[in-house]
Amino acid sequence: MILNFIDGQYREGSSGRSFDDINPVDGSLIAKVSEASREDVDAAVRAARQALSGPWGSLKLAQRCDLLYAVAAEMDRRAEDFIAAEVADTGKPRSLASHLDIPRGAANFRVFADVVRNVPTEAFTSHAPDGKPALNYALRRPKGVVAVVCPWNLPLLLMTWKVGPALACGNTVVVKPSEETPATAALLGEVMNQVGVPKGVYNVVHGFGPSSAGEYLTEHADIDAITFTGETRTGAAIMRASAGGIKPVSMELGGKNPAVVFADADLDVAIAGLTRSVFENTGQVCLGTERVYVQRPILEAVVQRLAAAARRLKPGRPEDPGANFGPLISAEHQQKVLGYFKLARDEGGTAVHGGGVPDMPAELKGGAWIEPTVWTGLAHDSRVAREEIFGPCCAVIAFDSEAEALQMANDTRYGLAASVYTRDIDRAHRFSSALKVGIVWVNTWFLRDLRTAFGGSGSSGIGREGGVHSLEFYTELSNVCIKFSGAGQ
Ligand code: NAD
Repeated sequence: MILNFIDGQYREGSSGRSFDDINPVDGSLIAKVSEASREDVDAAVRAARQALSGPWGSLKLAQRCDLLYAVAAEMDRRAEDFIAAEVADTGKPRSLASHLDIPRGAANFRVFADVVRNVPTEAFTSHAPDGKPALNYALRRPKGVVAVVCPWNLPLLLMTWKVGPALACGNTVVVKPSEETPATAALLGEVMNQVGVPKGVYNVVHGFGPSSAGEYLTEHADIDAITFTGETRTGAAIMRASAGGIKPVSMELGGKNPAVVFADADLDVAIAGLTRSVFENTGQVCLGTERVYVQRPILEAVVQRLAAAARRLKPGRPEDPGANFGPLISAEHQQKVLGYFKLARDEGGTAVHGGGVPDMPAELKGGAWIEPTVWTGLAHDSRVAREEIFGPCCAVIAFDSEAEALQMANDTRYGLAASVYTRDIDRAHRFSSALKVGIVWVNTWFLRDLRTAFGGSGSSGIGREGGVHSLEFYTELSNVCIKFSGAGQ
């Protein structure tokens, strides 16, 4: 049984209810998960509140940062446990979890410890009307108890992306992992205890959204801020839930990210980038590409090479060295993606590769498998080219001029990420600065420096996190003005 982690202890939910954690590779049961009741969420928030005024609140900045480094070191030491838990919950290739998800989980603690250790404080000197000097300086205080609501696609990575800066800034957290992927958030509790993070600083409550732990947490009167990663619709529900209490929210939401390939691009670079951005993690990356705009002279070459790359992806068990492509997260999500595949055909699309469920061996038939898929023949304003699918698929659409490519790339309610492939440095700059997105990659994709701003515009989110930008959300800024009684500058 995967348990809630409240006030430094693993606890079964008070209602006695549990739900199934299913392995998407074959549909088998991994574990039962204890669902947190409203009382359990109350207990977690209470523990987090008390910890603020306990030993955690009295730690010096350097001590807090040292503890976060210890968390990261312990995560590294237990990397195999984290990899096994993440792979079981998501079905993603072991190589991906061990290169991306788990090391990034530990890095999120180190990076934000470094940020808070090194960030300078704003100060202004001025004079009062009587000519005496005054000094204004800014102090950063923790916001308090932060609710962290997480998705299932990169469970540990995205959860620690919030917990790392929240704790570095001196807050305490109550985490609600996705019901699909509860394991690594629960495991992190052991790490917190092992390295001596005071009890109540990190809490985990399991459950669903509506009428369950997600809603109980985000509606809770005694939380001070909510940081959420997930679907745009869920973000709207959480904003409504938090509106009464005027809670600050940080929202990292959905996307329908474009890639734009100009005829002057290095095609090897473009195909390598697209292969990752369309298919990595079975297309379940918020930054992933689902619209590929290609300049007409190279359209056919891009379509054929991307389809060839899709053909080279081999679905199979995460630990199978011959496999490099996992299932979708669940049978439910598989049905959603297959629904879009049907819609693509109805809208006039042709699958150059894929478009269905791969033929898997008998023991994997119960898994949520899907074929990596490349569509052509879809109009830019078709639903498949406009709505977030969150699967390993893209619509390839031709353009003639730069202006046309820009118009199509920006013609969306989302604004998370875009990638641009060109060898023309002026065009790269001109085009990137006109894209209405939070993140642009040129001749690459998902190359992250955690000090940079991360977030989306439009329906893709509110706020930016990363580096010092995270401080804007996880701290309250107070200005102190001291008037001196003597003369001076
Ligand atoms: P989701 O919105 O369905 O669920 C996310 C979390 O919210 C889960 O823990 C869920 O239990 C909880 N939840 C659901 N309804 C709730 C409610 N009413 N109140 C409180 N909590 C509630 O998202 P998902 O399916 O887990 O993740 C996929 C989505 O996440 C995609 O849309 C993807 O683009 C987005 N995403 C965005 C980013 C980003 O950084 N912008 C990163 C990863 C994923």
